[in-house]
Amino acid sequence: MKKSGKIVLGAAAAGLVVLAGLYLYRGYLSGPSTAVMTFLRAPEAHSDWKTSALSRCGDAPFSFPTDGFIGYLWGDSFRLLHKHQGIDIFAGTDVGQTAVYAPYDGYLTRLDSWKSSLIIRIPSDPLHPGNQIWLYMTHLADPQGTSLIVADFPPGTAEKAVRKGELLGYQGNYSGDPNRPTGVHLHFSIVRDDGSGRYLNELEFENTIDPSPYFNLPLNASGSRSSIPKCASPAN
Ligand SMILES: [Zn+2]
Repeated sequence: MKKSGKIVLGAAAAGLVVLAGLYLYRGYLSGPSTAVMTFLRAPEAHSDWKTSALSRCGDAPFSFPTDGFIGYLWGDSFRLLHKHQGIDIFAGTDVGQTAVYAPYDGYLTRLDSWKSSLIIRIPSDPLHPGNQIWLYMTHLADPQGTSLIVADFPPGTAEKAVRKGELLGYQGNYSGDPNRPTGVHLHFSIVRDDGSGRYLNELEFENTIDPSPYFNLPLNASGSRSSIPKCASPAN
């Protein structure tokens, strides 16, 4: 092949790589992040985008854990080859103001090192009885890592019984880097059990479950997503 032919082929290959990258990033570049920015700039102007804490959509087994706009969905892509393991719910308020509640009865654990995180064991998945699942929640701390989890659940808490609707803490913006806090939100994931009574790594998308049927809300980014997930059939 001539040199010029190789250059053309090389340029075409580079173009394809860029297109593939844009395709993988499309969820991040288009709807959802724009909606999050719009919401966070003027939350009071978009209060109808919010889902209410403790509300339940239709016959959903879980009650909604906090007040806010569900800005990022399960499966959204923020960076190449990485999918979001849960949903991000943005209160549109300051740090420490918006309460976070247990969505279901279970047993709460908070590791010694967890400033902003907790996990609730649910012995029997309400949608797949007999299967154990775990609810992981994080960002309940301020930028410096001061916890916003209530005093009932200090670091080192293990297997403490919680009831659906019980207050767990408040939304924060802790990211691990005090200079680069996130927007104030709650991250919520449903994590699979390893089969021997422990939760799998909550940071791996493959270890998490689509939360949509548990809340009866469209929360799966790969489905026919709307940029503003809302309950289609509210309970009376
Ligand atoms: Zn998240």
